[in-house]
Amino acid sequence: MRFTIVATYIAVILITLVLMIIYTLGALSDNLYNSEFVDMFTKANIISENVSQIWENDTAVTEDKYNDYVENCLSGTNIRGVITNTSYTILYDTNKESALIGKVFMRDTLKDAMQGLQTSYSEKPDGGQRMISVAVPVKNNEGIIGCVYLAQNIATIDTTVAATRTSMAVFSVLIIVLIGLLSVGMGYVITSPIEQFRKAAREISKGNFSIRMKVTGHNELAQMSETFNYMCEELDSFEEQRRKFVSDASHELKTPMAGIKLICDSILNAENIDMQTVREFLSDMSDEVDRLTRIIDRLLVLTKLTSDTSALRLEETELSVIIENVIKKITAIAEEKDIVVYADYADDARLPVALDYDRIYEAIYNIVDNAVKYTPNGGFVHITLQNEDKFQRIDIEDNGPGIPEGEKDKIFDRFYRLDDSRARDTGGTGLGLAITKEAVLMHGGSIEVNNSDEGGSIFTIRLPYAQDGREESAL
Ligand code: ADP
Repeated sequence: MRFTIVATYIAVILITLVLMIIYTLGALSDNLYNSEFVDMFTKANIISENVSQIWENDTAVTEDKYNDYVENCLSGTNIRGVITNTSYTILYDTNKESALIGKVFMRDTLKDAMQGLQTSYSEKPDGGQRMISVAVPVKNNEGIIGCVYLAQNIATIDTTVAATRTSMAVFSVLIIVLIGLLSVGMGYVITSPIEQFRKAAREISKGNFSIRMKVTGHNELAQMSETFNYMCEELDSFEEQRRKFVSDASHELKTPMAGIKLICDSILNAENIDMQTVREFLSDMSDEVDRLTRIIDRLLVLTKLTSDTSALRLEETELSVIIENVIKKITAIAEEKDIVVYADYADDARLPVALDYDRIYEAIYNIVDNAVKYTPNGGFVHITLQNEDKFQRIDIEDNGPGIPEGEKDKIFDRFYRLDDSRARDTGGTGLGLAITKEAVLMHGGSIEVNNSDEGGSIFTIRLPYAQDGREESAL
C-alpha cells in the first residue's frame, strides 16, 4: 500500500514534469526563433525599401552605393546581407572576403522572394550551427527588380534552449526527490491508521472489544476512528449485557434447582417416610418446577423480543380493546385482593393503532399484574388512555408502595426486583418489566414510571400512531 502510494505519486509527478519540460522548451525555442525571424524580416524590408530608391544593376558601383544603407541596418549584428537582381546575380554582399559580387547566388528562398513572397528558412547541418535566413523582394514601379537576402548562424538560441533544458532537468530531479520524500511521509500518514484499523479488527475478531483507535485531528480518518470506537463501545456493551444476562439467568435458575435438589435429598435421606410427607415434598417440588418453567418461558419471550425486531405482526388495533381484555383477565385475581381495576378513555383516544396485539397485550398485562400484585388489599388500579402529540398515552396508576426515586430506571432491568424475597413470594421473575420495555421500544414507543401524589406508582407507556412515528421514539 505504502509502496503503491509512493510509486503513484512519483509516476504522476514524473509524467507531469516531462510533459512540462517538452512543452516549455518547444514554446521557448519557437518564441526565440520567431522573434529572430521578425527582426530579420524588419531589417530586410528596411534595406529593400532603401535600395529600391537608389537601384543600380551595375556591379561595379553597387557595393559603394548600397554599403551605407545595408551596413547601417545590420550594424551590431552578425547577419550577412546579400542583394541580388532578378537574374540572381549578387549586387552586394556584406561578406567582402567571399568576393561573390557579380556571381550568381541561387537559393529556394530567393526564388520565392522573386515571386513577391517574404520567405524564411532554417537549417542545421550535422555538427554545425543552426543557420536561419530570410529573403524579401525589392520592388519599384516596374515591379520586382531584385531581392534582399539575410542570413545568420545562431548558436545562442540552441544554447539557451539547452541550458534551460539542463536547469529544468536538475530542477525536476530535485522535485522528484522532494516529492519522493514527501510521498513516503504521506504514505506513512495514510497507511499507519489503516494498519491500526487492521490490528484493531483482528483484536475484535478475537473477542477483545476493549480496543480503541487513537483519534487525532478532525479529518475523515479521525471521523472513521471515532465511528470505529463507537462500534467497539457498542460491541463492548452488548458483550457486557450478554455476560450479565447469562450470569443472571444462571443465578435465577440455580435457586429453584437448589430447592428441587434439597427436596430430593430430603426424601432420599429420610427413613420410614410416610406418604403424606412425600406428597408435601413433591408439592413443594412441583412449585419449584412451576417457577423454573415460568422463568424459562419469560426468558424465551425476552430473547425473542430482543433478537427479532423485524418480526412484529402489526395489525390495526384499538388500545382500549387491549386494555379491556387485560382488565377482563386480571379481574378474578384482583377480586381476591378486593382491588378494583378500571379504565377511562379520552373521547378522541379510540383510534386504531398499528401494533402487534400479543406483544402489547403482554406489555400492558405485566404492568397491571404488577399493580395488582404489589398493591395492598382494598386498593385500586386505574388505567387511562389519551392522545398526546403523535402518541397514544396509557397511564396505569395504583395506590401501592410506589417505586423509590433511585430505582425508577433499574426496575426495567432483567431480573431486577425491589424486594427480592417479597417478589419471589408473589411468583415474580424480575423479567416482566424488561419484557414490557422491549415490546414498547420495538413499537417505537417509550415507558417511564413516576409516583402519584398518594405515593403509588404510575407507569406511562407512549405508543406512536403510525409506523412513521416509530422513528421518533418518545424516549
Ligand atoms: P416481577 O416479576 O418480580 O414483578 P417485574 O420486572 O415485573 O418483575 O418488576 C420488577 C420489580 O419492580 C418488582 O420486583 C417490584 O419490586 C417492582 N414493581 C413493579 N411494579 C410495581 C408496582 N406497581 N408497585 C411497586 N413495585 C413494583
